[in-house]
Amino acid sequence: MRNTKHKLFKDKTLRHLHDELNISGVVRNHFLALSMRYYRRYGKELSYSKMSAHLTNLKKLEKYQHWNIPYSWALQNVLKRLSQSFREMKTLGRGHPQFKSCKKHKGMTFDGRQAPLEKVLDKQKHERNHPTYKIRLNGRWYRFALHRPIEGKITQVHVTRDALGDVYITLTEDYSEVKYEPKTGKAEGFDFGIKDFLTGSDGHPYPSPMFYKHNADKLATAQKVHSRKVKGSHNRERERKNIARIHKKTANQRTDHHWKLAIELCQKFDILFFEDLNLRGMKALWGKQVSDLAFGEFLRKLKHQSKKRIRSVLKIDRWSPTSKCCSVCGHKNDNLTLADRNWTCPECHTDLDRDQNAAMNILKEGVASFGLGVVRPIVLFNRIVGISVEATSPLLKSTNASA
Ligand SMILES: [Zn+2]
Repeated sequence: MRNTKHKLFKDKTLRHLHDELNISGVVRNHFLALSMRYYRRYGKELSYSKMSAHLTNLKKLEKYQHWNIPYSWALQNVLKRLSQSFREMKTLGRGHPQFKSCKKHKGMTFDGRQAPLEKVLDKQKHERNHPTYKIRLNGRWYRFALHRPIEGKITQVHVTRDALGDVYITLTEDYSEVKYEPKTGKAEGFDFGIKDFLTGSDGHPYPSPMFYKHNADKLATAQKVHSRKVKGSHNRERERKNIARIHKKTANQRTDHHWKLAIELCQKFDILFFEDLNLRGMKALWGKQVSDLAFGEFLRKLKHQSKKRIRSVLKIDRWSPTSKCCSVCGHKNDNLTLADRNWTCPECHTDLDRDQNAAMNILKEGVASFGLGVVRPIVLFNRIVGISVEATSPLLKSTNASA
């Protein structure tokens, strides 16, 4: 399965798609209210089949004539998602689905067969530009630039819009992309941190540019200007878009950095070990900075790249002590606080860098718990200078990473 996201051209036709997205937002709110009332009355959830049947009846009424959009499956999909979020409330402990302004309704899903693609013959197209395609959604054609060639059969098309009014389509293909990378024979442990985004067990830091912090001043100014405008005015709407633009830029910068780093790591190492993170606990401890770094998002992207490039990303147990133990002799230092960046082990007198030591422990723990072999740090002049691995698995046979 491969997903590619394309931006639809901004032209007059797009307003029809916006209207249809608004309708699906209204339908969602309508059925959310209905199922809440149903629950109060009968003490159980309104099932999808009942909702769907009711929708069919409603569409016959004069009052809801405008709900008859050409592709009815999209509205049924809204109901399907709604009943799923009710189910997840019980099974996964998620919150209750909330009412949303229909203008903030973001997505609509189409079956691949119901959204055919066609190439547009554009004579004025520049050679280096991407070919223009058009897609038929709800009976109208929308144009976009296809920046990745389609390899498989399109199974699903997901339409999303953002706060700026841009509309994107995500094409899902039944095709999994594989990019073979040469084997490096290296394994590495990584420690997440605030000072450096990642620290490798060889001591190499991977800093994060902190995009939210970087754009914070611009954002504060924009928000101040926005708050001074009269509510409901065109000026206010313009400033709202300005804020949304800054948020979008921040997110784009972060995503770009994540993808590039994930690809770099997959090219450098065969096996990557990470700690299973307690993100909620980290957020409580460090606040906004953790959200800016978005560790969870990064791990998701890294997993995707590792599948594509046939690498392994493995997680070690959350409760194994990584920061407090000396990675050379295993002595546990209970007096260590968060402020200590460097410390000397009282047992073996090695000077340890906090992040590198944690990364080394993660590598040791990972290699041992997945039965790959034994890792020993090489110590010279009281400093860790490299790693020696006694591999028992053919995966790591040629491993000899050094700093
Ligand atoms: Zn020690």
